[in-house]
Amino acid sequence: MANAPAARETSATGDPPSPPPAIVLIEDETHIRRFMRAALGGAGYRLFEAATAEDGLAEVSARQPALVIVDLGLPDLDGLEVIRQLREWTMVAIIVLSARGQEQDKVLALDAGADDYLTKPFGVGELLARMRVALRNWAKAQDSGDTAITIGDLTVDLVRHSAAVAGNEVHLTSIESKLLRAFVRSPGKLLTQSQLVREVWGSAGAQQTGALRVHMVQLRRKLEADPARPRYLLTEPGVGYRLAVE
Ligand code: CA
Repeated sequence: MANAPAARETSATGDPPSPPPAIVLIEDETHIRRFMRAALGGAGYRLFEAATAEDGLAEVSARQPALVIVDLGLPDLDGLEVIRQLREWTMVAIIVLSARGQEQDKVLALDAGADDYLTKPFGVGELLARMRVALRNWAKAQDSGDTAITIGDLTVDLVRHSAAVAGNEVHLTSIESKLLRAFVRSPGKLLTQSQLVREVWGSAGAQQTGALRVHMVQLRRKLEADPARPRYLLTEPGVGYRLAVE
């Protein structure tokens, strides 16, 4: 997350209040953007708009929204390509806007990683209902689901932000925790350096591959019996890292 936790206010109960969810809308048609602005502003969302794929991808990097709404027909890049690029580094909820007669495009969009779609024209009620579902699933994916994993002596619990080796709890920094979360969400999957950098630092992290290496070394020191011969966090030279699954 781009926001520093320290900058947030704390409510009387001690829990941080939830800020209104940020939404990025990537849509070239001005009348649809105007419609969405009216619909979402009234419903208490923070809406950030982009009229091109390029601007939209930049907005998503900058805002780290909970939901992206993307039109399939954009002037500079296919909406499908936008989804594919987003899915290289973020699990943000994605709703696709499509025109009638684009059934095949909808399937492709879902295969590419979109969560849902709306066919134009659509009403405010339908829009808000789909958004609520997508945001709820996104929140659930953040907080639960496959949130605990055990591999050999290593146990990671994403809900409690904790890890243990052979039953001994390990203290993780917030960056280490974010890194480990990315691995545990996709056990066995090769994660590229740039994917991991974006997971941890977002768009500001383009130059952080050196820092990534440092944090991976620290993480191995905490989790591996022999950090020089890691059993869990494996390096794929020149590409990235993967969490060993067996
Ligand atoms: Ca369009």
